[in-house]
Amino acid sequence: MTYDVVIIGAGPAGLTAGIYARTKMMKTLIIDSGRVGGQLVSLYPEKGVHNYPGFETIQARKLSDKLYAQAESLECDIKEYEKVEDIINGDQELLVKTTKDTYHAKSVVIAIGMGSFKPRKFGVPGETELEGKGVSFLLPPKEQIVGKKVVMCGGGNSAIDMALVADSVTDTTIIHRRADFRADEATVKQLKESNITTVMNANVKSINGTDHVESITVEQDGQEKTIPADLVVINIGISADLDDLKKWGIKLTDDGLVDVKFDMSTNRPGVFACGDVVSYPGKFKQITTATGEATTAILMAHMFVKKPYWA
Ligand SMILES: Cc1cc2nc3c(=O)[nH]c(=O)nc-3n(C[C@H](O)[C@H](O)[C@H](O)COP(=O)(O)OP(=O)(O)OC[C@H]3O[C@@H](n4cnc5c(N)ncnc54)[C@H](O)[C@@H]3O)c2cc1C
Repeated sequence: MTYDVVIIGAGPAGLTAGIYARTKMMKTLIIDSGRVGGQLVSLYPEKGVHNYPGFETIQARKLSDKLYAQAESLECDIKEYEKVEDIINGDQELLVKTTKDTYHAKSVVIAIGMGSFKPRKFGVPGETELEGKGVSFLLPPKEQIVGKKVVMCGGGNSAIDMALVADSVTDTTIIHRRADFRADEATVKQLKESNITTVMNANVKSINGTDHVESITVEQDGQEKTIPADLVVINIGISADLDDLKKWGIKLTDDGLVDVKFDMSTNRPGVFACGDVVSYPGKFKQITTATGEATTAILMAHMFVKKPYWA
């Protein structure tokens, strides 16, 4: 069987591409190397998204659930935990090779976001040893942290948003290595109005405990300070791995992202791209830009595949 389009990646961009493809009645397959939902479920499931139109605030995993449900209800074929390894030119079609199978496609949309991503670590004693025993890179669901002492490490929007979620049910402290937060003004205002304790200009030295986290030690103004903690959440960024792209014959920009034209086409005929993986002047990595680019990418893929008389 040949799909009209194979979409690589099931984050907001890939799922939106799938939704649009089905409205055009394209036979559609979406493949993800992990779980459906992309960064929303893998990096910040509990965080509120405040800037997706139509929802004043929606928890990231709920927004992902809605996109997933919509793509499924429109009968996209969806495969999880299957990594795309190559896009090969076949006889008048493209072959998408994964870790499990090879799929035939008339067009391909690359929506792999940041590729395989891993949370950044401090590299301090206790961090690895206590991972899963009170050290986490994601905020667990609220019900699991009621009454705990939570220490959030980080100074960006995501760290503050998660600290605000935790603060509603826990005693929360946020530790940041600088004097100012690197977050939206509205988010910082919310933090200042909350009960969260802030520890600024502080460098994490160790996370302490035997079977479970008991405290975290920081250096502040040349002095060491130990803060009691049941849960330490580390939110200091992500390291992305986009090495796969280099093997796919796709022209990349200097920053290693996909070089797209204004219509989201790439240098390879029938291969389009959208979302965090693409770069162009004025690009912003946001959910709305990812979904907007996905719309363009799939409508162009539709024209490429169906060649309608008006195109
Ligand atoms: C902490 C944090 C908070 C954020 N908060 C907001 C916010 O509040 N509002 C907002 O608009 N934006 C926010 N963003 C940005 C937003 O999440 C991204 O812009 C968005 O997720 C991009 O969507 P995407 O579909 O392009 O990529 P992703 O969400 O990264 O999805 C890409 C998918 O592709 C899969 N994949 C990768 N490689 C392969 C492969 N070889 N084969 C198959 N599948 C593959 C991945 O597993 C992943 O599921 C935030 C980002 C972070 C890190």
